[in-house]
Amino acid sequence: MKSKKNGVVIGLEVHIQLTNLNTKLFCSCSSDYRGKEPNTLVCPICLGFPGSLPVINKKAIEFATRLALALECDINKEFWFFRKNYFYPDLPKGFQVSQYNKAGGKAFGDRGHIIIRSNSEKKEISLNRIHLEEDPARLVHKGSIASSPYTLVDYNRSGITLIEIVTEPVIRSPREAREFLNNLKSVIQYTGIADLDLEGSVRVDANISIEGYPRSEVKNINSFKEVERALKWEIRRQKNLIKHGKEPIQETRHWDDDRRVTIGLRSKEFEKDYRYFPEQDLVPINLDDDFINKVKAELPEMPNVRMNRFQKDYHLSEFDSEILVLDKNIADFYEEGIHFKANFGDEEYKMYCNWLMGDISRWLNEHNKNILETELKPEELANLIEKIQDGEITGKIAKSFVDKLMKGKSLANIIKESGKKRLADKKKLESIVREVLEENPAIIKDYKDNPRALEALIGKCMAKTRGTADPEITRELLIRNMDDYLEN
Ligand SMILES: [Zn+2]
Repeated sequence: MKSKKNGVVIGLEVHIQLTNLNTKLFCSCSSDYRGKEPNTLVCPICLGFPGSLPVINKKAIEFATRLALALECDINKEFWFFRKNYFYPDLPKGFQVSQYNKAGGKAFGDRGHIIIRSNSEKKEISLNRIHLEEDPARLVHKGSIASSPYTLVDYNRSGITLIEIVTEPVIRSPREAREFLNNLKSVIQYTGIADLDLEGSVRVDANISIEGYPRSEVKNINSFKEVERALKWEIRRQKNLIKHGKEPIQETRHWDDDRRVTIGLRSKEFEKDYRYFPEQDLVPINLDDDFINKVKAELPEMPNVRMNRFQKDYHLSEFDSEILVLDKNIADFYEEGIHFKANFGDEEYKMYCNWLMGDISRWLNEHNKNILETELKPEELANLIEKIQDGEITGKIAKSFVDKLMKGKSLANIIKESGKKRLADKKKLESIVREVLEENPAIIKDYKDNPRALEALIGKCMAKTRGTADPEITRELLIRNMDDYLEN
């Protein structure tokens, strides 16, 4: 019997639409197809009419070069496209034009990598290659693909530029896959080639196996969020089979995101079924060093470099810097904001980071928005932090302002309207403290055995002052006045 270790092995094939291109990969039709009348952004080339001749989109080559450099791939300076033959209604030519890394063909870039964090350790996810290909048309079904009475075809998507990113089979858990995709998304955002928040801009195929057994390929997972879920489901299915003495078979499965299960579609086709051969209607592509160097020079600072700079320039921890740079818009916001106040130093840099990663991010998640879709300006968050530091408002009060700030209300107006300034007047606070002590003998009794009961008393003072009491002064006054209320 062969040894079976039951570890999980995952490889991903990620298809990304280069949504920041204006036109398709081989014709000048607009690539801005979302929300457009079906079959209006088409021409003889992307409809696959006989005799039509494709021409490569130069900007697509530039975008692919940007990504290859960002991922540190080895760029193939000379390559040609291949035809991947198969018949399906979404493919009017009967073949997809793609790069192919065998039979004399080459990918756009080989190798490359992405660093992720796995169980607080850093791990390198090696890439096999990245390559360019065209998107097929969009098939529209009524309800589920399995039960729909018809299929509609929208060729607006036909010929849109895709980049496929293929990892080595080195991902060991659904969580690692999620980390990889988050970091990949970040790199793509920094390169400026695509907005992956657009619907349909991402499709993932995943190869999954339990060590020692054949793998299955789960096709067409339509968002990064679904990947982790689909992987978990498929791993459970395979482990169950093995547990019951059966072997998983090599097959292609479809992820049904309504039912959240994978469904067996067909036994996997093999590469020879696609009869790859060179596309003779396109000339070979040659990239010279000048071109590559120019793209390199224009490449913005990448997240890993920025992370190191944040640690050095703002004395943030590695952990803080890593999270802060992941979303480029947040990192830009941060750098703009902290430079508004000349007197800000390490303490404020850390506070600004905490606010962005804490209350602001929480608000963004709850409202499913990114920072650019809100009215909050970097300088306003700087003002808020300044007022906390000056003692004009407490952190607790500041937190209650977040919703209004995000919706564009100015800090000055919020403070004026709420009447919430920090209450630091010791005389006023002392009378409130004594009131609270008077009213809560049970908590005081508890305090004798459990010093943490003090927090409950601070909470009572906060409630009485609608959150404006200065927490430190309140704590001091509570301790000082406590003796009068403690029996024996
Ligand atoms: Zn076209």
